[in-house]
Amino acid sequence: MNSIFTKIINRELPANIVYEDDNVIAFLDINPVNPGHTLVVPKNEKSNMLESLEEDVINILKVVRTLAPAILKTVGADGFNLITNVGEGSGQTVFHTHFHIIPRFNNDGHKQWTVMEVTSDELNKIEKDIKSNI
Ligand code: 5GP
Repeated sequence: MNSIFTKIINRELPANIVYEDDNVIAFLDINPVNPGHTLVVPKNEKSNMLESLEEDVINILKVVRTLAPAILKTVGADGFNLITNVGEGSGQTVFHTHFHIIPRFNNDGHKQWTVMEVTSDELNKIEKDIKSNI
């Protein structure tokens, strides 16, 4: 079954499309975190960015670099967050690869990540374990 985003690509569902080429589409998020919140999506439907072809991820990032300055200029933002959620545990709700461009404003009230305490021994162990899992 096609994802919601494939239905937008196929014009079976409406969306505020701000950019489109042969491989990538970008449209405004229906529930924006801030004005101009945009989703950049590969037309080739895969469940997340690890499943997408490498060239699709590269294409997305190229579009982000073109689109983000236009979005920031349009809404007068001071910066943006680029986020892609992978897996339920991350909060992913639409299982079709997408990158969020979330415009940010000084003092917009959105919190950054909270941090945890960690020892240097724990950091060293995680470093070693990640390397062995590559
Ligand atoms: P995720 O949590 O999977 O990273 O984000 C999915 C995003 O898709 C959410 O921010 C949500 O608001 C957005 N979204 C879900 N359904 C629709 C839709 O039908 N149209 C648009 N434009 N955005 C959608």
